[in-house]
Amino acid sequence: MSKRLSEPLEKLNEKTKELAEGHQLETMLPESSTIEINELVLSINELSKRLGKQNELRNRLTSDIAHELRTPLTTIKAHIEAMYDGIWPITKERLKSCYEEVDRLTRLIGNIEKITELESHIENLNLRPFHLKNMLCAIRDNFEAQYEAKKISLEVISPEISLVADEDKMRQVITNLLANALKFTPPSGKVIVQVTENDLEVIIKVMDTGVGIAKEEQEHIFNRLYRTDLSRATISGGQGIGLAIARAIIRAHKGNIRVESELGKGSIFIITLPKI
Ligand code: ADP
Repeated sequence: MSKRLSEPLEKLNEKTKELAEGHQLETMLPESSTIEINELVLSINELSKRLGKQNELRNRLTSDIAHELRTPLTTIKAHIEAMYDGIWPITKERLKSCYEEVDRLTRLIGNIEKITELESHIENLNLRPFHLKNMLCAIRDNFEAQYEAKKISLEVISPEISLVADEDKMRQVITNLLANALKFTPPSGKVIVQVTENDLEVIIKVMDTGVGIAKEEQEHIFNRLYRTDLSRATISGGQGIGLAIARAIIRAHKGNIRVESELGKGSIFIITLPKI
C-alpha cells in the first residue's frame, strides 16, 4: 500500500524538479488511480504545457525582435561608416535618415514594452457595462479630420446596446482598426463600423475598401511585428503591433477577431464578443 503511494509521489517529485529548472516535461505524467495523486498529476501536466507555450512565445518574440532590429541597424551602420570613411560627405539629409532609423528603433522598443506589459496583465480587465454606439461615435469623431483629409467616408451603424467589457481596452482595439483602415484605404474610399447582435454574441465589423490582404498573409497579421509585403513596400511607419494588441485584448474577453479580405477590394475585420 505504502509502495503504491510513494512510487508515484517520487516520480512527481522528480518531475516537479525538472519544471522548477524551467524545462518542459518531455512526456506527460501518466494518470494515477489514486484520486488525490491524479489531481496533482493533471495540474503538473497542465503546468508543463503552459511552460512549454511560454517558452515558445518567448523564443518567437526574441527572433522577431532580432529580425526587426537588424534592418535599421544595418542601414545606420552603413550610413555612418560611409560618412566616417569620407566616401559620403556628411549632409543634413544623411544625418536625418540616420536619425529617422534611430527614432524607428526607439518606437519599436516602446511598442514591445507596451505589448509585453499588456500581455502580462491581460487578466486585469475592468468589466463594466457601457453604451457601445456612443463609444464608437466618439472614436469616429476623433478620426473625422484625418479621414476627411484623405477623402474617406467613415460611418458607424449600430443598435443602441449596452456591452459589458473593458471600455478603455475596447476603445484601443477599435482605434487600432480604424487607424489601419485609414492607412490602407486609398483616397475616396469608404470605411464602415457595423454592429449586430444575437442572443449570445455582439459582432463588430470594421469594413474598408482598401488594398486588401493576400490569403496567405491573413493568418499572420495578428502576430506581433508582422507586416504584409505590400505594407512594407509602400507604407512607412507601421510596426506590426496594433493587431497583436487587438487580438490579446479580444481573447482576454473570451472573444475572437478574424479577417476576411480580398486583394485590391478591401478588408473586413470581425470581432465577436460573448454576451456576459
Ligand atoms: P501596423 O499597421 O503598425 O503595421 P498592425 O499590427 O496594425 O501593424 O497590422 C499588421 C499588418 O496587417 C499591417 O502592416 C498590414 O500589412 C496589415 N493590415 C492591417 N490592417 C489592414 C487593412 N485594413 N487593410 C490592409 N492591410 C491591413
